[in-house]
Amino acid sequence: MESKSTVLTPDSQPSTDDCVPPVWIEVDLQVIQQNFRQIRRFVSPHVKVLTVVKANAYGHGLLPVARALMEAGTDHLAVANVVEAVALRRAGVSAKLLVLGQLLPEEAPLVVRHGLIQAIGDFGAAKALSREALLQEKLVSIHLKVDTGMGRYGVWHEEAVSLFRRLVELPGLVHEGIFTHLSSAGQNAPATEEQLEGFSQLIQRLEKARLPVGIRHAANSVGMLRFPLSHWDLVRTGLLVYGVSPVKDSQPIEIHPALSLKSRVRFLKTLQPGQAVSYGGTWKAEKRSLIATVPVGYAHGYTRALSNKAQLLVRGRRAPVVGRVTMEDLMCDVTDIPGAQIGDEVVLIGRQGGEQVTAEELARHARTIPYEILVGLSPSIPRRYL
Ligand SMILES: *Cc1c(COP(=O)(O)O)cnc(C)c1O
Repeated sequence: MESKSTVLTPDSQPSTDDCVPPVWIEVDLQVIQQNFRQIRRFVSPHVKVLTVVKANAYGHGLLPVARALMEAGTDHLAVANVVEAVALRRAGVSAKLLVLGQLLPEEAPLVVRHGLIQAIGDFGAAKALSREALLQEKLVSIHLKVDTGMGRYGVWHEEAVSLFRRLVELPGLVHEGIFTHLSSAGQNAPATEEQLEGFSQLIQRLEKARLPVGIRHAANSVGMLRFPLSHWDLVRTGLLVYGVSPVKDSQPIEIHPALSLKSRVRFLKTLQPGQAVSYGGTWKAEKRSLIATVPVGYAHGYTRALSNKAQLLVRGRRAPVVGRVTMEDLMCDVTDIPGAQIGDEVVLIGRQGGEQVTAEELARHARTIPYEILVGLSPSIPRRYL
């Protein structure tokens, strides 16, 4: 059943065609393709590479990224939900599309109609899909989702054999694969080994019971880097594709960030010693200071947690963010940047001259993870593709 109520979409954003957008994102699709090829080379040739484009391709833009990854040869794409998958299909994306999240029975018609691959962790959702497959006289592919310690979606691994026995009785379903998700591959090796062991034992039991296991997969980006045993038949990579590292230590593969966040200096003012900047007056000039106002704020996803912590680039040099980040603007200290002017390009994420600010760096300042920095960038910021 498709909802009859009106859905408001953000396409009521003001057009930026004929003026300089206050803030914009540049995405280098070739860098995404190069990162993909590095991942492709890292795993053995028989291992498929699925790329995760959920959450608007980690803020990079669903459609352009999906197309670039298809061109680069990804074996599957994965999204979080049916809405994202249908958006891809309607735009003509014909790739194998795995829906990672849980299905509601009323979404089954769309999954079947658009030939999506659905993760299944319970009998109810599978039954709804099976019934719909019969109605539409089509087959629908599923991957059994197994919980080995994540505690989110999926059937607990010790109960998976009995569920699988019931699933194979359902007509219209193709058992294309089985997977689990690692909860701690970046921090906790014993917990990850336990998860992989639970998954491995389950697969042995399923094979012994002659159940159609299909494609086996467990690894996300960090799992793939750290646990070769997690590769199985397919790796599911998200963050690495975008050139961002899920771990702090050095990388066994060479990746580069694909996204830049840019703006321009809109205003400059000289502050005298003792004068304060922004809400709460949390920063005060110690000497005569030149302060630039940049029209990027927490409305754009440049989180308030970066106040008085982050740095950005002007004229190839680092300028510290001073005072609290406001809804639409932030201030930075450009006293030590010779020649700083209104209109200067500002790089909040990305490279300028010899300097670079990464999503990882911002995440450290904001005490979060780079994932949250990237997907937090407002969808209303115009994206330009290189
Ligand atoms: C998001 C997600 C991934 C990708 O994770 P990265 O850390 O970005 O590589 C893989 N598998 C599942 C189930 C996910 O939800």
